Amino acid sequence: MDTQPPTFSVVAPVYNEEQLIAEFCRRVIAALEPLGEPFELILVNDGCRDRSPDIMRELHQRDPRIKVINFSRNFGHQIAITAGTDYATGRAVIVIDSDLQDPPEVIPDLIARWREGYQVVYGVREERQGETWFKKTTAAIFYRLIVRITNVNIPVDTGDFRLMDRKVVDALKRMREHHRFMRGLSAWVGFRQTGVLYRRHARAAGTTKYPLRKMLRFALDGITSFSYLPLQLATYVGFIVAAISIIFLFVVFVMRLSNPAATEPAFYGQASTLASVLFLGAVQLISLGIIGEYVGRIYDEVKGRPLYIVAETLGIDETAATSAGNMRTTHKEQSPVIE
Ligand code: UDP
Ligand code: MG
Repeated sequence: MDTQPPTFSVVAPVYNEEQLIAEFCRRVIAALEPLGEPFELILVNDGCRDRSPDIMRELHQRDPRIKVINFSRNFGHQIAITAGTDYATGRAVIVIDSDLQDPPEVIPDLIARWREGYQVVYGVREERQGETWFKKTTAAIFYRLIVRITNVNIPVDTGDFRLMDRKVVDALKRMREHHRFMRGLSAWVGFRQTGVLYRRHARAAGTTKYPLRKMLRFALDGITSFSYLPLQLATYVGFIVAAISIIFLFVVFVMRLSNPAATEPAFYGQASTLASVLFLGAVQLISLGIIGEYVGRIYDEVKGRPLYIVAETLGIDETAATSAGNMRTTHKEQSPVIE
């Protein structure tokens, strides 16, 4: 095995991509080889249940530049990317989906911008092919919303397809939060960032591993990781409802005074009482639910479990994954590193 660290590390999460994985590796290698610098391709097997693990093992045996991290079970896309970057040793780390939606042929363009001195080069999807109308619309709304409600400059219409300089990767390694929104974290670290336009293709085979439920979770992780606005909403609604009630009380009071004979003006009725009780009940339940989202995430952090469990690695120098990776890191243990 090479002792020289490679210039480039390509990190790809893999979850049940048996039809694509060999072709994916072929295209990544074909894109990188002409650059004439050493590279590694780290495939993170995120608990695949199909033939992908066997195929990956074979690919590694044929070409040792292809390395494999086998998780003990499925930990999710964002965690798989995290593990890959933890173990990557390159001077620049490129994260790319293994379903060929992000074309590997764009990698040299990302590298060209990195050579110009940018430390984060993210892919901006100028067009998304083969995605449902629903996914495109919700994604467009989500990315615009998150830019507005957070103070992190998360570029619009970017995914996890990006190149990160070693400095950025080292900074990311110190952020061990469990509910990870990687595209947000890599914006949060700062440094010189730029985008490269590319055309996102349809999945070459297989189906998406992000059903609606997972997409919602992911969106919530993004928002709660970077914004307190949902928590503050209860306060705003509270103030608005309080103001309305004071005006309402005042109106009722004046009407009673000016017309003592009237017994039943319309808004004394049961319907309006019921509506306002239900409205406030709903607002309270929603607020509780929002607090619950944050408390659950705090609970996950406090437990301090490792982000992932590795069952086996192929071709990976285990010492390369510095303290960050696979170990329990509580905030206390981390603090000396941060200082
Ligand atoms: N993926 C993963 N673990 C998961 C789900 C997905 O490693 O639990 C991988 C998957 O193999 C693919 C990438 O993450 O390479 C993106 O997933 P997918 O293409 O299903 O998402 P979409 O592009 O539809 O948003
Ligand atoms: Mg995909």
